[in-house]
Amino acid sequence: MEKAVVGRFAPSPSGYLHMGNLLAMLLAWLDCRALGGELVFRMEDLDPARSKPEYIAALADDLRWLGLDWDRGWPDPAYAQSKRRALYEQAFRQLEARDLVYPCWCSRAERLAAASAPHPGEQQADFGCRCARLSRSEREELLRGGRPPAWKLRCPDETVCVSDGHYGPLAQNLAREAGDCIIRRADGVYAYQLAVSVDDMAMGVTRVVRGRDLLSSAPRQKWLIETLGGAAPDYCHGPLIASGDGKLSKRLGSLSTRQLRQDYTPEALVGRLARLCGLIEKEEALTPRELLSEFSWDKVKTEDIPI
Ligand code: GLU
Repeated sequence: MEKAVVGRFAPSPSGYLHMGNLLAMLLAWLDCRALGGELVFRMEDLDPARSKPEYIAALADDLRWLGLDWDRGWPDPAYAQSKRRALYEQAFRQLEARDLVYPCWCSRAERLAAASAPHPGEQQADFGCRCARLSRSEREELLRGGRPPAWKLRCPDETVCVSDGHYGPLAQNLAREAGDCIIRRADGVYAYQLAVSVDDMAMGVTRVVRGRDLLSSAPRQKWLIETLGGAAPDYCHGPLIASGDGKLSKRLGSLSTRQLRQDYTPEALVGRLARLCGLIEKEEALTPRELLSEFSWDKVKTEDIPI
């Protein structure tokens, strides 16, 4: 029997959505609807300092405005990462029992960076800091010292292959090319790589469609899910809309939904996104549902889209 398709939207409310986010959401919607799947909306409000109520409120409203619907998820609080701590805790204990995590007392900047998804230029392989090599007694002494550590995932010297639906096969040695990453910050907040893996597994997600900036995280997430006893989803990444410096920040005001909603009708914006990514040649206003008949990953560009 074919497994039922479950796709997802997983935006972070750390800013208003921008063109690049909207393209990723549109592709996730088209992919899932074309396969007759069920679409889940998960609110990735992991980081309490960066998740603002106005951004949380705007996310769902902006997706609906564009014409994207979902079948389960937000605003049900069970789909907000801030309410799913107990699950992350459970997974953390499982990893701890297998000696796959270690406490780390390194700098604060590194800890803050860990709760957000890595974006181009921000991710560097972490070959394990000195905390990875402490003896048991040194570690216990530091733990007794009372300064709370962050906790890092100890990536194995193992090559994991992901067959990306759009970019093809990616083989990554986790220890050498991805590296150890923080999965629980010193303030107790669980970080992106753990939360996203636990959630994709727990929510039965079978297809992850998102921007190419997260492609390099896919092998680690696949490994985490399988290590925790789950079945990894299929991954399919889409091109990024990039400004001159190679990335689009949510702070780029003119391309944020606040401004876009003044400049475009929803259908005109869907048409613009569809032309930019290669789904249609001549720009025209159309709804996501009308675009479905044009949708095929073969038409979607692999190179990033300059704007
Ligand atoms: N919440 C992440 C972001 O907005 C995306 C997570 C994912 O799709 O895996 O960058």
